[in-house]
Amino acid sequence: MTTNSWLTALQENGYRLTSARRAVVEKMAHTRTALNPLEVYDQTRAACPGLGLVTVYRTLEKLEELGLIQRVHQPGGCNAYLPSAHGHQHLLICRACGKAEYFEGDNLDEFFARVGQQNGFTISEHWLQLFGLCPTCQAK
Ligand SMILES: [Zn+2]
Ligand SMILES: [Zn+2]
Repeated sequence: MTTNSWLTALQENGYRLTSARRAVVEKMAHTRTALNPLEVYDQTRAACPGLGLVTVYRTLEKLEELGLIQRVHQPGGCNAYLPSAHGHQHLLICRACGKAEYFEGDNLDEFFARVGQQNGFTISEHWLQLFGLCPTCQAK
């Protein structure tokens, strides 16, 4: 379902869907783990031998442009992606394996408003990512 709506969005934006691009879309639509382009490539090429790394980069770029995936911060930089959350959500990301969980709700608005005030800023949005170890990685 998700994959189909993503494919439709890409087509409507003039993106031609080759089987290689489809494979990348399929991967990103279902991942619960933040993936960088190289990881997407590694995990997709077995099912799709014609896939090239450039295609992975371009497809990820396009998906990000359409707001279907979001870039997440990682220790090595901001080049890993996850499916975009529906509405305002926060992220928990495992430092070891990249597994991500979304969580909603916060009582942080007051805190953010105060930080803004102290620095003469008006705060219009925030983006929150928490890092740690997921249950699986804690057990290792
Ligand atoms: Zn983990
Ligand atoms: Zn929030």
